[in-house]
Amino acid sequence: MSAPFNFSAGPAMLPAEVMQQARDEFLNWNDLGISVMEISHRDPAFIRLAEQAEQDLRDLMAIPDHYKVLFMHGGGRGQFSAVPQNIAATDATADYLNCGIWSDFAIREAQKYVRHVNVVGAAVQTDQGKAISHPDSWQLSEHAAYFHYCPNETVDGIAVHEIPQVNAPIVADMSSNILSEPLDVSKFGVIYAGAQKNIGPSGFAISIVREDLLGHAQTNTSTIMDYTVQAKEGSMYNTPNTFAWYLSALVFQWLKRQGGVAAIGELNRAKAAKLYHYIDQSDFYSNPVHPDYRSRMNIPFLLADSSLDNAFLEQAAAAGLVGLKGHRFVGGMRASIYNAMPMAGVDALVEFMAEFERKV
Ligand SMILES: *Cc1c(COP(=O)(O)O)cnc(C)c1O
Repeated sequence: MSAPFNFSAGPAMLPAEVMQQARDEFLNWNDLGISVMEISHRDPAFIRLAEQAEQDLRDLMAIPDHYKVLFMHGGGRGQFSAVPQNIAATDATADYLNCGIWSDFAIREAQKYVRHVNVVGAAVQTDQGKAISHPDSWQLSEHAAYFHYCPNETVDGIAVHEIPQVNAPIVADMSSNILSEPLDVSKFGVIYAGAQKNIGPSGFAISIVREDLLGHAQTNTSTIMDYTVQAKEGSMYNTPNTFAWYLSALVFQWLKRQGGVAAIGELNRAKAAKLYHYIDQSDFYSNPVHPDYRSRMNIPFLLADSSLDNAFLEQAAAAGLVGLKGHRFVGGMRASIYNAMPMAGVDALVEFMAEFERKV
């Protein structure tokens, strides 16, 4: 049987080529006769890997020199507390746009570390589906330490496609859309992402931090989450997750071979357009999000008759389409189509959906 297409939201599908390479060199990495898992993170061979990974990420995202690239512990949520602790004083105000479930978690975490967390706007229901309140209506603070938003809400399938125009440094949780299309990094103060959607294994995170924001950590910040310390230590203040780092490095090289974020971005647009087009022309399936706010990474959809949900999931799995169950908070279905998902996966899904609709 051929490998299934995996639509899981995260941990998510990784490029097969990357996993094959990892398998082939697992016991004997770089002709050392031992595994990359068995060497010190301070071994020159591993340091070279780490430096190459950073350079590849800088190339892919065109990260300007005045930004540090940090490889951090604790996934996306680790950054929910790292951000306020590192770049806001305890008595500061931080602005948050509440785009959905992950924004909400970030807000609640920030409330532990800064006195004023100001929610400037939120998801709203419109005639054409779920959207985000218009920027003109946002209640921005005059002296916010930063403005936080999540440009791609993984659970809700809502995306903010335009970078907000605000005065405060912008912090973006890009856990589920980093590297999915070209981006002007210079518009941001901090970009962070848990790795397990578009980068590599879970438990790992990347933070891209503008240098002028370093050096202001709150006194009680745990050292391991301190951006300034991690920047100074080359993200090796303690033993990092070397396996995640290694696998992420392979994914960056794979992405370069695909033509980088410009090429993958076009493919991602085409994949999403095809799936939305099918959903929209059908009376059997629907997507609850306003067309201007639709995610190109996570596409939730509902069956008109939800009593068929289980049959849909079972038959999809039997047809080699796995991981389509919607998040437990929202139900329905969700197709996550990150960088590693080929067009063939979307084609197979659309074909299956049409077949299922025809049969019932
Ligand atoms: C998955 C996800 C997270 C959480 O990541 P963890 O690594 O599980 O902490 C945070 N934000 C967004 C947008 C996500 O998609």
